[in-house]
Amino acid sequence: MPYCSSVSKLAGYEDAEVEETSSDINGNSVSIEFHINRNCVECGYEASTYDGSGDADFDHTCPVDHECDDDFDHDVDEVGFTLNSVDLEVGDQMRTTDRHGKPIKSYRYQRREYHVIGCASIDCDHCGETFDADLGTLDTVAASSFESESH
Ligand SMILES: [Zn+2]
Ligand SMILES: [Zn+2]
Ligand SMILES: [Zn+2]
Repeated sequence: MPYCSSVSKLAGYEDAEVEETSSDINGNSVSIEFHINRNCVECGYEASTYDGSGDADFDHTCPVDHECDDDFDHDVDEVGFTLNSVDLEVGDQMRTTDRHGKPIKSYRYQRREYHVIGCASIDCDHCGETFDADLGTLDTVAASSFESESH
């Protein structure tokens, strides 16, 4: 926990928030860079931050009734997509298994970690359909990996 000079003591955090810093689409893969912050619960200062990135593949099948040149190859690599927007959410949980996958029984040794979940709105350049792609968990980061700042 960082030291907060407005209350002259160590202060906890508000719930984590995440924002997209950049995103890109390449074939049927979306890559996203994001910024997580945890604000000081006493004064609102952005006291703890983490910058990360993740990527995920999505699937799309053009609807059967779209207008189309019959010999067009509908392989997902040929179709082409445009990224409209990205929605990110951050959640946290206690890590209950160690790095060998064994359960950690004592609460004292469990560690908090954060995960970023993504969803993207995408246009198919071929059939024109706009669809939402669930990108799943883009990254999982231990709370100890955050940069924390006394202020
Ligand atoms: Zn503060
Ligand atoms: Zn399509
Ligand atoms: Zn087609």
